[in-house]
Amino acid sequence: YGHRLVVDLERPVLSSTGEKVAPTPTVNLSVEKMSQQRRDIIVVIDAGHGGEDPGAIGPKKTREKDIVLAISKEIAQQLEARSGYKPMLVRDGDFIVALKNRRDYARKNNADIFVSIHADAFTSSLAQGASVYALSNGGATSSMAQYLADQENAADVIGGLNGVSLEDKDDILKQVLVDLSMTATMQSSLNVGTLVLDEIGRFTKLHGNRRAPGQANFVVLRAPDVPSILVETGYISNPTEEANLGSPAYRKKMATAIANGIVRYFESQPPEGSWVAWQQQQKQAVRKYVVAKGDTLSAIAVRNGVSLQALKSLNKINGSTIKIGQVLVLPQS
Ligand SMILES: [Zn+2]
Repeated sequence: YGHRLVVDLERPVLSSTGEKVAPTPTVNLSVEKMSQQRRDIIVVIDAGHGGEDPGAIGPKKTREKDIVLAISKEIAQQLEARSGYKPMLVRDGDFIVALKNRRDYARKNNADIFVSIHADAFTSSLAQGASVYALSNGGATSSMAQYLADQENAADVIGGLNGVSLEDKDDILKQVLVDLSMTATMQSSLNVGTLVLDEIGRFTKLHGNRRAPGQANFVVLRAPDVPSILVETGYISNPTEEANLGSPAYRKKMATAIANGIVRYFESQPPEGSWVAWQQQQKQAVRKYVVAKGDTLSAIAVRNGVSLQALKSLNKINGSTIKIGQVLVLPQS
């Protein structure tokens, strides 16, 4: 859904003396009714590997595919428990999903973010610590080329993003449009990645003590219009980390950190039309009423479902005198 123009038509309100007065300039929809129009933030969680691809295998034979599925399910459970978030798992069982299908799943479901969970191995068993990756510039450029090579895909991406069709645009303009979308997406990916790293760094080691996301050319992250990060929860090739990741309590901490980072990101910049954005506006919004001819304090109170006493004390009015044009503050309904 793009921009909408909403026109509310209201019946004239009669004052106590029977005169028509200006309709109350406040919104009186119930919280329930409003929240139905507020969408959930869609978080697509991608447990790496699966099925015939076990991913990395630890010295004690712990398989990456099992660890990352457990962490992904835990993240989903925690987000599900919050208002305003809808987690979706790319895989909820032990099966393989092609890399391209993972990011396509995110785009088809209009994901607000794509988070891929891994616990890879390194040639040295000494390597340790968690890290977060976003797509690199080089990766973005080559993936852009890839999308452009696939006309259908590129048209899809832009169509879904800005409602701009690519069909009638020349090649240079197409590149600029895709590039613009990817630059914004990359910055969002880095922002959310930084918050997730910060949360993980509160309870465990970060790889190389890096507090900024790394940037690399991961195929799974190449969805130009969905901010995407890849979380390496640790090195399964390191015996200590293999033991950590094998513990449900540690995995739960890891999932909590990732979920918290995602929530912090969306609370700092909630997507337009989301329940989270609406919730924040509600907290900030102050209902106001401009006194019209024929108004009395008690009539204003009744019409707005406020007690006369509350209305007077909120506006520091002692008697009952109000003036036309005076602005009254109304309590949150
Ligand atoms: Zn992996």
